[in-house]
Amino acid sequence: MEGGLVFIGDLDLTTRKVLRWLIERKPIKDIVEWANAFSLWPVHLMTSCCGVELGAAYAPRFDLERYGSLPFVSPRQTNLIIIEGTLTRKMARVARITWEQMADPKFVIAMGACAIDGGLFWNSYNVVRANEVIPVDIYIPGCPPRPEALARAILMLQQRIKSRGITRHDLELIEKNLKIERVELARE
Ligand code: SF4
Repeated sequence: MEGGLVFIGDLDLTTRKVLRWLIERKPIKDIVEWANAFSLWPVHLMTSCCGVELGAAYAPRFDLERYGSLPFVSPRQTNLIIIEGTLTRKMARVARITWEQMADPKFVIAMGACAIDGGLFWNSYNVVRANEVIPVDIYIPGCPPRPEALARAILMLQQRIKSRGITRHDLELIEKNLKIERVELARE
């Protein structure tokens, strides 16, 4: 063969290596990062009064949908969870189960003083911090934070997704979802 590469050895292993090489380079890398950043779908899980501001943020006046963030009901069709204020022990279990059901790669925003460090209820026997239950990516201070603050958090998360590049975990997910088929060429 002239002007080409010949791969020898384990065909499946070589195919995986080539696939990784392709995904980690432009333009596929840019497409994956763009798709992750502009498909932030938060699951509907209201834990406390900060949820009212979240409702306002997704209503027509602030309209977070314009940033590619669309609230969904089913955890299996979402990749973002926003802890909306106080997290009681009972709701912490629900939040963890919901987070586990969400699609990868998934992200977490802790909204309000209560979600960050307990806020008004910092010494309550029944309140836990969001980061004790699930890994938090972005914190929004305030009691409650305004819708603009939530909009800023979504934009910051998008920047972070775009700057972090494609992780090993992302690669494994892409590989799992791509069906690699071996094409046997008939010999003449
Ligand atoms: S931070 Fe303030 S508004 Fe938000 S849940 Fe706590 S008390 Fe309510």
